[in-house]
Amino acid sequence: MQTLCILGSTGSIGKSTLDVVRLHPEKFDIVSLSAHSSVELMFAQCLEFRPNKVVMVSTKHAKALASKLVAANLSDIEVTSGTSALETIAQAPSTDTVMAAIVGASGLLPTLAAVKAGKKVLLANKEALVTSGAIFIDAVKQSGAQLLPIDSEHNAIFQCLPLNAQQQPGYCDLPNEGVSKILLTGSGGPFRTWQLDELEKVTPDQACAHPNWDMGRKISVDSATMMNKGLEFIEAKWLFNLEPDDIQVVLHPQSTIHSMVQYKDGSVIAQMGNPDMRTPIAHALSFPQRIESGVAPFDFFAAKSLEFEAVDFDKYPNLKLAIEACKSGQGACTALNAANEIAVDAFLNEKIKFTDIVKINETSVNKFVSEKVTSIEDVVALDNNVRIFAQSLVTEPKH
Ligand code: NDP
Ligand code: MG
Repeated sequence: MQTLCILGSTGSIGKSTLDVVRLHPEKFDIVSLSAHSSVELMFAQCLEFRPNKVVMVSTKHAKALASKLVAANLSDIEVTSGTSALETIAQAPSTDTVMAAIVGASGLLPTLAAVKAGKKVLLANKEALVTSGAIFIDAVKQSGAQLLPIDSEHNAIFQCLPLNAQQQPGYCDLPNEGVSKILLTGSGGPFRTWQLDELEKVTPDQACAHPNWDMGRKISVDSATMMNKGLEFIEAKWLFNLEPDDIQVVLHPQSTIHSMVQYKDGSVIAQMGNPDMRTPIAHALSFPQRIESGVAPFDFFAAKSLEFEAVDFDKYPNLKLAIEACKSGQGACTALNAANEIAVDAFLNEKIKFTDIVKINETSVNKFVSEKVTSIEDVVALDNNVRIFAQSLVTEPKH
């Protein structure tokens, strides 16, 4: 029995994780779950999975959940609130595995707590790694935590690597393993075929309607701007111990191939399948074994074609900005991630236009690019300062 804590169980990745767990009651035992404020869904998850502990970050919502549990005779499920409670469940001795599926840099401290406690950490929360980079990887190295990527691209790359590299996430030596390049695929999002001048009028619902993947709203907007691929570029640098020049983004509109590894001898190994996050989740949950995920087998005869295109950086300036930030250093990456969270939230709340997102991101990176980030306290302080600055640009968007 593998005991499991799911941070962000009410989100898209959290629900997909529970879908896989539901198929294997003899393999996985849910010990703790967390959400921000989704009381109804968390209550339903408690009824079904009977965790020992639940964290609702919002105190008001924690109280509401606790009353519902008492009324349902489930008062033995302990409900706590606040951000430090997330760290408590992430590092609890009763937990073997932590699924890090909170969205945004709010997931950093609990994910890091799981890493420091030496857990098996399933990393969906890419923002945590982007915002802390070497500090995060050093903690993995020190504790000996097993880090497994959930992001479909990174999980695909992981699957295409030799065993030796899989056993050393964050500090593998891929050139020494014969790898010449990592090919990070991306669909290009819903606006790949739109004209540049049409992007000004994009609405939040249009941006969230991804052609292939069904995801939370923040990552859906990131996919539309391709900031998601930019964050993934930085994530790949850290997970696979690479230089930015070793990573290349390839547009692949069908999302059938989830990423590829090119070797020195000319071989390219690709991982493919239906675009469904239950595949990487099942892979990581049971690694190195393979288990059912509930995903339908890939139908080669229904797939008409596999297309590949170079990225048009004029259309995706956020991706360009992220690759530059990756080359600049940690200050730029932390600033970019924080500014982007503010900008995307403002766009989703219709305070700024879709095309303003990159302006806020770029202005913020330029301001904070040379900040030194050498400790987790530096990360938290910079993240906070950038948010205040980016928020001021939202209120007064004259860049
Ligand atoms: P969702 O928005 O669907 O879910 C986010 C989860 O985090 C919810 O459980 C939410 O709780 C909780 N949460 C939100 N804000 C906070 C906060 N401030 N503190 C603590 N918990 C919070 O996101 P996704 O599942 O789409 O994405 C989660 C992570 O996985 C992201 O980092 C994303 O980049 C990554 N990822 C997602 C993929 C996908 O297919 N969705 C693919 C690859 C990576 P509540 O419901 O109460 O708001
Ligand atoms: Mg991805």
